Amino acid sequence: MYIVQIASECAPVIKAGGLGDVVYGLSRELELRGHTVEIILPKYDCMRYDHIWGLHEAYRDLVVPWYGAAIYCDVYCGWVYGRLCFFIDPHSEDLFFNRSCYYGCNDDNMRFAFFSKAALEFLLLTNKRPDVIHCHDWQTGLVPVLLFEIYKYHGMEYQRVCYTIHNFKHQGISGCDVLWATGLNKESYYFADDRLQDPFNPFALNLMKGGIVYSNFITTVSPHHAWEAHYGDFGYGLGHTIHEHQHKFGGVLNGIDYEVWNPQADRYIPHHYDADTFTEKAKNKQALREQLWLGHGDKPLIAYVGRLDQQKGVHLVHHAIYYALYRQAQFVLLGSATETAINNWFLHEKNHLNNNPDCHIEIGFNEELSHLIYAGADLIIVPSNYEPCGLTQMIGLQYGAVPVVRGVGGLLNTVFDRDYDNYHEPEKRNGYVFFQTDSQALESALDRAIGLWYHYPKKFQNLAIQGMEYDYSWSNPATQYLSIYEYIRHK
Ligand code: ADP
Repeated sequence: MYIVQIASECAPVIKAGGLGDVVYGLSRELELRGHTVEIILPKYDCMRYDHIWGLHEAYRDLVVPWYGAAIYCDVYCGWVYGRLCFFIDPHSEDLFFNRSCYYGCNDDNMRFAFFSKAALEFLLLTNKRPDVIHCHDWQTGLVPVLLFEIYKYHGMEYQRVCYTIHNFKHQGISGCDVLWATGLNKESYYFADDRLQDPFNPFALNLMKGGIVYSNFITTVSPHHAWEAHYGDFGYGLGHTIHEHQHKFGGVLNGIDYEVWNPQADRYIPHHYDADTFTEKAKNKQALREQLWLGHGDKPLIAYVGRLDQQKGVHLVHHAIYYALYRQAQFVLLGSATETAINNWFLHEKNHLNNNPDCHIEIGFNEELSHLIYAGADLIIVPSNYEPCGLTQMIGLQYGAVPVVRGVGGLLNTVFDRDYDNYHEPEKRNGYVFFQTDSQALESALDRAIGLWYHYPKKFQNLAIQGMEYDYSWSNPATQYLSIYEYIRHK
């Protein structure tokens, strides 16, 4: 099959979170199976150019209709660790992608509406006719709308769209300027409940809703989150739209890239290991402690790696630091916050705990350090308020760090409680799960984990090894995506 991914991120060249990992990891697995994959991305000024090989101008003067006039673009082409990527570079006074950031601008809607239009125009003019266009999140929600309302009538009638929602919270709420700009001319036609009208604000458009209504198939990133979005609150207002389109909606659990996340070959960790040489992991713990100036006592090491955001349950992350210290454990945190108040809160804690030999707080994004933390930690906590899939618990499992998670979204599909899981045999369980959002729930799960580490070290080690034996690679998810692609192709 010939598949084109249209996305706002692709790791490691453009990565703000899990979306980037998914676009790269899925594309790689599809290509390993013999399919052709190309990825279309914006050419941001701040992306990691050091991860692109052979970047060159592939198409000059792509004329993209915009507000009845046009914006000229150049399209660059290069390889990101073997994946063929096209980067769209518009020449306009708006400087859409020269903002030193990926997201967070006032005109994000217009930036990504333009990107969606330009990506389709590029496919049209270069005569690329993929079997499937796979697009992601609100940023590319307009792609199927434009395809089936405009481009279908210009020679793209056989293309099919799979749309993956990684986070329902951000939906791309915009005004009708998006319609005027992209050439979707009939305003009242799109401002309809069964098209792009926002479920909360009848005077606003919802780009994610457009993606849901127009795509041939919609996925979200875990089966449990698919259920939550359909029947619970986590659709953030789109539950009804999902319900109307339930016949083409499902959850496919994300994978992690086992080339990148592999304790047997990880270039960022000093001691390689696997389930058979598990004792080597302790050397990474020592290396982590040395790097972060932590004490070397006989204590479990608990870690948190992730964004510091309400979604991630920051109040519980904060509570876990002090509870770990109280329970004679060590705590390492690596995270970054976009909200100033949360950032200041954790900076304050960092200063306060600076001299504590059992705690280290690192504020910022640090890929290299994250690998050493996964390899050195005994426990990884993920106390999220909601979590569409979550990659950190899967990476933790792969590195023999036992996850302690809240039972929501993809966390429920990947972590099975050692003491209470009803569906898995004891030798298939791999972590600890709690359900409430209060500190007592977190404490009780941490108590069980720390207790096992102190009093039954052999059993704790067995639990970590059971986790390492799970296969959360892209192998299974890619098979599921391929069957979705086949299904929509022949529909
Ligand atoms: P989300 O996409 O909601 O941010 P995920 O758990 O799906 O969360 O993916 C997070 C990814 O980003 C993981 O690969 C994790 O290791 C990485 N990550 C998050 N925060 C940091 C950080 N501060 N430094 C390094 N890596 C980080």
